[in-house]
Amino acid sequence: MTIYWERCSICGKYESTRQCVMFPDIMTCIHCCVACINRDRCPKPVWIVEVKHRKLVVPKRPVEDIKKKVMEELFSKLGADK
Ligand SMILES: [Zn+2]
Repeated sequence: MTIYWERCSICGKYESTRQCVMFPDIMTCIHCCVACINRDRCPKPVWIVEVKHRKLVVPKRPVEDIKKKVMEELFSKLGADK
């Protein structure tokens, strides 16, 4: 069993924390850092989510591809009516 003596300044949970870059008086856990509303503006988030996790979020078939296929089907039907 791991005991963390540090406490997150944001959620108050006893977790492993790191000092926030934007607000040095705040110690943040990984959850609060990732969910932070200032993360887009943060020069260097102290908690970095691994790249492989991000790749899972990217859809394999973008909406544009589906739209294109639908349009191609429509045009092929229009052409067949002539
Ligand atoms: Zn937290």
